Amino acid sequence: RAKEYGRNGFQCYTPDMGQRASEVLPMEVAIRAALSNHELELYFQPKVDARTHTIVSAEALLRWSRPGFGLLSPGAFIPFAEERANLMRAIDTYVLRKACMHLARWRKAGVPVTSIALNLSASQFARAGMIAELDELLLEFGLDGSLLTLEVTEGVLLAEGGVAADNMLALRRMGVQVSIDDFGTGFSSLSYLHRFPVDELKIDRSFVSKIGRTGKDAALVKAIIGLGRDLSLRVVAEGVETTEQAEYLTSSGCDVLQGYLFYLPMSEEQFLEMLGAQAFASA
Ligand code: C2E
Ligand code: MG
Ligand code: MG
Ligand code: MG
Repeated sequence: RAKEYGRNGFQCYTPDMGQRASEVLPMEVAIRAALSNHELELYFQPKVDARTHTIVSAEALLRWSRPGFGLLSPGAFIPFAEERANLMRAIDTYVLRKACMHLARWRKAGVPVTSIALNLSASQFARAGMIAELDELLLEFGLDGSLLTLEVTEGVLLAEGGVAADNMLALRRMGVQVSIDDFGTGFSSLSYLHRFPVDELKIDRSFVSKIGRTGKDAALVKAIIGLGRDLSLRVVAEGVETTEQAEYLTSSGCDVLQGYLFYLPMSEEQFLEMLGAQAFASA
């Protein structure tokens, strides 16, 4: 079986590789097998317009339906992969390809949601070959870059210049949008917002969940929204769970909302069924 993974750089497993290897390799093997068996799938969580609550886009969230383990969330395997650049790269490439496949399918079928937001790991965002690969994918599926938004965390943007900055500029030229995910949790200076072509700020759930509890946290949310608006960035709030939060965010000028209050992440099948039912209801 080891031969099967050889092409991906997997080392043949032998008992003398020691305890660390014996703990680590099976997980890597399992993830690589999951990639080739297509056990990893994209779930979709709609983002809605804050005022009208109509769906404007959907975020793809990775799920692993692992035989014998049920449906695993990214927390169960992404942190492991993050420490192995080649593995994370394989996952990110897989996710990009799947997303393009879904998008192309939806467009063909006339599905009204035609834009997808993806989470890309920081390491891949700063990788030199990433843009060329994305370009090729878009071409292969006949998609325009403007149909994609890449969500990345602030950490990516800390480096002055460098590959991440070049990639950002290339993405801007391709029409691909960039969103700063978990905004406000990165302890970073805000100056990068001027240096990088960013399109969207995504307020972290930890801020959203505190709305209504203390005045200070609410003020922080307002400040982030104000910052985004001053810089002409779209502001999205993640993890919206209560109508109180939704109303506060909307009246403070937040553009887009996402959270369990509106929709849970769902399989493509559920997503298309829900959209179909909605179109039927409004017809
Ligand atoms: P994220 O991008 O910040 O995604 C938001 C997470 O919050 C998702 O968890 C989502 O299911 C969850 N969520 C959404 N609305 C609510 C809500 O109202 N309340 C609460 N409590 N949670 C909510 P999930 O799917 O487990 O993903 C966790 C993280 O894993 C993501 O955080 C993202 O950083 C990462 N991730 C997900 N998919 C991918 C992927 O395809 N590639 C990479 N590299 N990372 C991914
Ligand atoms: Mg995200
Ligand atoms: Mg987020
Ligand atoms: Mg988050």
